[in-house]
Amino acid sequence: MYKASADTQLPTSIIGSLPRPSWFTENLGARSFLEAMVDTTYREQYEDTISAYLQAQNDAGIDICTDGDAHYDTQVAGLSWQTYAPNRMEGFSETKPQPSRYAVGAAAYPRGHILHDFLECKVMPRIVGPVGPGDLQYSAMWRAAQRMSDKPIKFGTITPELLAASVEDDYYSDPVERTMALSEALNQELNVLADAGCQSIQMEEPQIHMTPVRGKLFGKLGTDELVQIFNNTVKGLTKKTEVWCHTCWGNPSQQRIFEEIQSYQPTLHALNQVDADVLTFETCSSGPGDLKAIGEVITEKKIAIGVIDHHTLQVERPDQVAKLIREALKHIPAERLIISSDCGMGREGMTRRHANYKMIAMVQGTNIVRAELGLPVAKCRAQDQQFSLAAETAL
Ligand SMILES: [Zn+2]
Repeated sequence: MYKASADTQLPTSIIGSLPRPSWFTENLGARSFLEAMVDTTYREQYEDTISAYLQAQNDAGIDICTDGDAHYDTQVAGLSWQTYAPNRMEGFSETKPQPSRYAVGAAAYPRGHILHDFLECKVMPRIVGPVGPGDLQYSAMWRAAQRMSDKPIKFGTITPELLAASVEDDYYSDPVERTMALSEALNQELNVLADAGCQSIQMEEPQIHMTPVRGKLFGKLGTDELVQIFNNTVKGLTKKTEVWCHTCWGNPSQQRIFEEIQSYQPTLHALNQVDADVLTFETCSSGPGDLKAIGEVITEKKIAIGVIDHHTLQVERPDQVAKLIREALKHIPAERLIISSDCGMGREGMTRRHANYKMIAMVQGTNIVRAELGLPVAKCRAQDQQFSLAAETAL
């Protein structure tokens, strides 16, 4: 059901992660979130970080905010997005994590390619028993952010098939069985999060759109099976909260994972079958070429388009953002259009300042189009000339 995006026209959001402050030096390590929050230093740095993230999003004028994925540790290539869950879920070994086999991508990223580091760093605990939510503690992390803001905080999670493809398994006899068990465990955790009052839950990177490029996952899971897994993972959620399905074409080390620009078009009908209220699409970095097809196939769900590229440091201009939104509006009605970044901006390499100005440009560009359509514009405090430090010299 529509919650976070219900009351705003052309609402703006980001996918999730933001660059870490240089002074946020603490990491969760092997601790659970609640365990770490007992640590004075961790708690202070964590709370100050999400406060800074929320302030930056508020200054830009973003409508649906995130906690910047502040619980992810400083790991090579942003790998904490994948290691957070297996290090805390029930059913995983508690001995030293070991390198996992990486069936997907190893041939494409030999040593000498930046993404080889990402593969080398897949050092994960292995499954040794039935998996459960364990200490994921999503609702505690969501509360830590939501209590600082009146705006809705969207909370994201990795999807089960990516976890299943990343870890060794001594317990389940088949990778499909493993994927379904992880799906059930995540579903339990996400229902607790929805019951806590989270107004938007985002499923990050289901592999549906990857199947035409990579073939069936484990040689078994095609688009239909991956849709079923998605819908099992979110069962019960759309009655309680707004569910987003996020897809993009890669973000480890803020890299595209494919040499060629890929298209969503072969899997749009499958994506339309997921039980989500909002589908996100990477349409800035990979261009607007899929917008017409997206508009033709996705006729009931809301559509979040990316107008900010997470791979580059070049800050998009507001007129570029407005142009892309106008192009989208040729194919998608304004009532169902959401404006976002292509993916998270916090993996590796981007500064907070770059990310902040990208968010500002996104809102400025959206405001241009809102004004053209006669819609209310968002307050963008960051553009108020009165508060230029050099205002008196009329720079
Ligand atoms: Zn992404």
